[in-house]
Amino acid sequence: MKKALVAGAGGFIGNHLVKRLKDEGYWVRGVDIKFPEYSKTLADEFLIMDLREKKNCLEALTLSGKEKFDEVYQLAADMGGAGYIFTGENDFDIMHNSSQINLNFASLHNFYNKLFYSSSACIYPQQLQESVDNPGLKESDAYPANPDSEYGWEKIFSERLYMSMSRKTGIPVRIARFHNVYGPEGTYKGGREKAPAAISRKVAEAELDGKKYIEIWGDGQQTRSFLYIDEALEGVRRLMDSNFSGPVNIGSDEMVSINDLARMVMDIAGLELEIKNIPGPLGVRGRNSDNSLIKEKLGWAPNYPLRKGMEKTYKWVRQQVFSERMGLYQK
Ligand code: NAD
Repeated sequence: MKKALVAGAGGFIGNHLVKRLKDEGYWVRGVDIKFPEYSKTLADEFLIMDLREKKNCLEALTLSGKEKFDEVYQLAADMGGAGYIFTGENDFDIMHNSSQINLNFASLHNFYNKLFYSSSACIYPQQLQESVDNPGLKESDAYPANPDSEYGWEKIFSERLYMSMSRKTGIPVRIARFHNVYGPEGTYKGGREKAPAAISRKVAEAELDGKKYIEIWGDGQQTRSFLYIDEALEGVRRLMDSNFSGPVNIGSDEMVSINDLARMVMDIAGLELEIKNIPGPLGVRGRNSDNSLIKEKLGWAPNYPLRKGMEKTYKWVRQQVFSERMGLYQK
């Protein structure tokens, strides 16, 4: 039986990844500073610890005897949506905390046979993302580097950290650049939520409160592509089992404006609401994934329609918002 460590297993993608690995028959140890918020972990063991501490990483990576983990999935990071990454307030935490975790995992390479690292589309240069008609970012566009956030700079540093570790030690690494992953059980409130969950929450709250409008940051013309969680995991597992080390985009190439995403959610909810575009943190103007490389190297690319993923996501977020409110009324 293969043994995997999932770092960041209390987070959105990590918790789903644990389920996926268990379905595939792995023995899984999860580690995070917190438990998953919306469902019980399926990990065989779950350690609560701060991975900025090297001694904790060592403990998380230690199996009995001289046994090594077959696979480590390093997803732990200090991250969030535009409201967390682009205000400037969290820059030092993002750079310091995530790079500390990655330095620990890279230096403890004697404890695993293969490592997956979750990088991000945020590494791409901002000057290639100034138009809403982004033709799709290719992996080779990354250099010369000019990410628009400290989050992106940390990710590009850590990509290089793991690649150089792999060159020195021969230990294989696999690196994915995720583009906006969304789905049920993703953060939907509190300041770290991303657009699909935030819009779903706003629409559900409007339904509950009888409000006639929702607020969207910026003019709403900014574009993104969003990847449904199941496809992100499919990409991760295919990449991990392949001979290609990456970095490779794992993203959807179905680009949508944020206003159109909001209209899609209203349509799913059966509500007609006004969109009020207000000032707010934004990030780049347009971003899309070019999937040529993943098709060439893995013979596969994401193709699950945004509408279907948003139907599932809205249903889950609405349920959270409504049950939370009912809890309040019961008090
Ligand atoms: P998430 O915030 O839900 O998960 C990250 C987890 O890391 C959290 O559970 C958090 O508690 C944990 N963590 C942070 N600091 C820690 C510490 N010091 N010690 C232990 N655990 C710590 O985020 P996610 O959406 O699941 O993303 C997973 C990975 O994928 C991250 O590396 C993220 O940067 C990357 N990524 C995600 C997206 C996306 O759209 N979700 C896009 C690009 C890249």
